[in-house]
Amino acid sequence: MNNTKSQELYAAGQKHLVGAVNSPVRAFNSVGGNPLFMERAHGSKIYDVDGNEYIDMVLSYGPMILGHGNDKVVASVQKQVCTGFTFGASTEDEITLAEMVCDAFPGMDKVRFVNSGTEAILSAIRLARAFTNKNHIIKFAGCYHGHSDALLVAAGSGLATLSIPGSKGVPADAVKNTLIATYNDIDSVKKHIAECDDIAAVFIEPIAGNMGVVKPTDDFIKELRQITKEAEILLVVDEVMTGFRSKFGGAQELLGIEADITCLGKVVGGGFPVGAYGARNEIMEMVSPLGAMYQAGTLSGNPVAMAAGISTLTELKAQNPYNKFNEQAEVIEKALIDAASANGIDLTVNRFGSMINPFFNAKTVTNFDEAQECNTEQFTKFFWGLIENGVYIPPSQFEAWFLCTVLSEGDINKIISAINNAMKKVNEIVN
Ligand SMILES: *Cc1c(COP(=O)(O)O)cnc(C)c1O
Repeated sequence: MNNTKSQELYAAGQKHLVGAVNSPVRAFNSVGGNPLFMERAHGSKIYDVDGNEYIDMVLSYGPMILGHGNDKVVASVQKQVCTGFTFGASTEDEITLAEMVCDAFPGMDKVRFVNSGTEAILSAIRLARAFTNKNHIIKFAGCYHGHSDALLVAAGSGLATLSIPGSKGVPADAVKNTLIATYNDIDSVKKHIAECDDIAAVFIEPIAGNMGVVKPTDDFIKELRQITKEAEILLVVDEVMTGFRSKFGGAQELLGIEADITCLGKVVGGGFPVGAYGARNEIMEMVSPLGAMYQAGTLSGNPVAMAAGISTLTELKAQNPYNKFNEQAEVIEKALIDAASANGIDLTVNRFGSMINPFFNAKTVTNFDEAQECNTEQFTKFFWGLIENGVYIPPSQFEAWFLCTVLSEGDINKIISAINNAMKKVNEIVN
């Protein structure tokens, strides 16, 4: 595989960019080698600057659920670009997208658009505190909720991959009100609630995607909903990854729960920078200009991003790809398990909807500690095997692979054959 130009750009990028990337998850620290520089993408494929073609299972970490360059999304964006980029004033499209989002999530009467998942979450922290007049928050080890100070503890993939236990520059004061619980362990939540009467909210990834894919058991998620309600603690469901991906109504629809505050990002912007948080009227009326919780944004509800969001969600709703996603993910899961067993490699596959993740681990993975027991050396071999066979997955054992609606039967067959070849490479270091 020729990657001369990627290597040149990686070297050149070091001068004025930090590590030649604008987000650390794009660095290949945990798998070694240099990151690939991408040039263009279309449909299910992405092409690097050296002209190599890959089936894209990163999909910009989730947003590109329709694949790249969907005709309708392109047309809506082009139209808006010619009409105006941003006005610093309200537009009709914001109302349209808000209606679509609130329709999809029954727990949301009102929504506020922001510019990223991180911004949605940090606003939700402030809102939960404003509404409850309480200060503490609970998060689960391994869940990632963006890079705001209060939640940058035990925060999953990016940090796990880089082996940083938190972050420098976060003052102890900023996390002193953050309590850590264990995913799928309801007693770890009950313990905090019993010991602290100042808890504003529990934050959760309803299907964790940032420690690899980890699903909640039915009992755990239902009981979490129940005990938070009883203790008058808000349940903040971080659907930045799962919103419009697990189901059109997100993981909440799939799991049969309703959040007090829902956070969105990724798919809702169709590839443009959009985040959102929303809740029932009583809670959202705390937000400025109706209420006393301040939160603002120069580019929030950006017209081009709104156009991309509307056309993406319209298309997604019409296509209703969720059963197909399940069937395709099942085929990929089987290929992974078969290839691993043919090569004598321990592997556990977790998947939920269009998110799938192989763990190089014999045991089941239900929380962050178990995820961390994986053999990352084997993952590294497997990662490069897939790259060489034309399948682009995230450069981390702890990130989900994503499916898109334009993944064809031929693509699936190519993925299966790449898995078989890559697993043989892993076998070389095992045996
Ligand atoms: C990606 C992600 C975020 C952060 O969103 P950004 O747009 O990267 O700021 C927050 N929560 C979850 C669950 C995510 O997957």
